[in-house]
Amino acid sequence: MAELAASRDDIAILLKWYVDQGIDETIGEEAVDHFAVPPTTVAPPAPTPIRPTASPRAPVPLESPQLVEDARDIARRCTTIAELEAAVRAFEGCALKRTAKNTVFADGVPGAPVMIVGEAPGADEDRLGKPFVGVSGQLMDRMFDAIGMNRARDLYITNILFWRPPGNRTPTLAEQAICLAFTRRHVELAKPKILVLAGGTAAKAVLDTTEGIMRLRGKWTSVQLDDGHEVPTLPTFHPAYLLRTPASKRQSWLDLLAIDKKLKELGVKVSS
Ligand code: URA
Repeated sequence: MAELAASRDDIAILLKWYVDQGIDETIGEEAVDHFAVPPTTVAPPAPTPIRPTASPRAPVPLESPQLVEDARDIARRCTTIAELEAAVRAFEGCALKRTAKNTVFADGVPGAPVMIVGEAPGADEDRLGKPFVGVSGQLMDRMFDAIGMNRARDLYITNILFWRPPGNRTPTLAEQAICLAFTRRHVELAKPKILVLAGGTAAKAVLDTTEGIMRLRGKWTSVQLDDGHEVPTLPTFHPAYLLRTPASKRQSWLDLLAIDKKLKELGVKVSS
């Protein structure tokens, strides 16, 4: 009896640990009995080709090109941000939607001079339906506040992914490619003066490169949009990384100063 009580405690501790690590979602509606699956039906994963150099990224896996095409077609037909938001909310081609509580589209001011693109909603964003509202988002707010900018006035914020990946896992390339079709159109319609890519996943996806954030951060580049426009773009560290690695805040401060300088060069007045 005492042994049973102890093992319940152990299970409770283990479950709490899972939740603390962000593993708080079941992926399927029904449990899978792995013992019932004949071993011969389980195909080994296809080997991922290793690219010797950076960029471009590996092609999207075979099952999803049609979904990417569908997403592009739908996005292309949207002529306003409101239409795009409605299209994203109605879109059923990304499996992440099935496990997410909310579609997380954007926050801030559409048309603001700075548009920030992060990776994917976390648990807080999923619950509240807005991007960057958890602890990392609060750090991001404080950082931009330091250069006199805030999401009520100067920032427009979104993610590559509109739905939280279960347990905060890294989104697959297919999930990224499907959502990115909408995100690229989102940038075209929002027409920011500057695009900021927060973290390695967003930077790699938008810039279509295998180069890591350590090499990309702090270097201005230009994103060529499908409508012919180009937008000056700065990859920077993700605020969640800064929470884990406070020493890197020094580099992020340099990025913020670079954003401030670029806005001045572009003649954009930020009212503080
Ligand atoms: N991390 C992100 O990349 N985006 C969010 O919205 C929250 C956390």
